[in-house]
Amino acid sequence: MAHAHHILIAEDEPKIAALLSEYLQGAGYLASIVEEGDRVLSAIGDTRPDLLLLDVMLPGMDGLQILRELRKSSQLPVIMLTARVEEIDRLLGLEFGADDYVCKPFSPREVVARVRALLRRSRGPASPNPFVVDESTQRILVGGKALPLTTTEYRLLQTLLAHPGRVYSRDRLLDLMHDDLRDVTDRVVDSHIRNLRRKLDDLVPGGPYVHSVYGAGYRFELPESAPS
Ligand code: CA
Repeated sequence: MAHAHHILIAEDEPKIAALLSEYLQGAGYLASIVEEGDRVLSAIGDTRPDLLLLDVMLPGMDGLQILRELRKSSQLPVIMLTARVEEIDRLLGLEFGADDYVCKPFSPREVVARVRALLRRSRGPASPNPFVVDESTQRILVGGKALPLTTTEYRLLQTLLAHPGRVYSRDRLLDLMHDDLRDVTDRVVDSHIRNLRRKLDDLVPGGPYVHSVYGAGYRFELPESAPS
């Protein structure tokens, strides 16, 4: 590793912060901790971290305020730590723009895996994105040819493609589909995703592109390029 990535942990519960720090350092990262919400933005300015782990519930400025403020001027990769599952879609949405989230209680190993994945994605496109969205005709083209997608599959793929790497919950994906379907359930999302994946596997080399995230939803990801 050329240089160790620096992870800033904004977490006011000392045990959790220490545990995360320990695991991150064990995985070869530099880690530092800030416990007060009001100090997070200045800590980012001072220490220039490569990634922020940001607890939603912080004393002083809370995680949501911090994230909103940060996003006015920075695309720093951010993983939110939250105990409130109902908040997730908003966190990942345009209003706040988190890159990923981990629900409390979490396993530190899982957090380290998410950190590693997000840093990899943030280094820039691993390989060229073969998908071109043509919104005017509601088609998605690969190599100049339109993929034979249903309307629902188009919407799903268009959404996932808008933010490679971002996890979309089934609920959020369901919202996109609901004018087509009445009695929709999570399983319906899974079945559309399954069909979409089958088509992509058949028609677009270099995949898989659509990944399921256990307990969370789905994300689009470009495959990693060969190590240079
Ligand atoms: Ca907290």
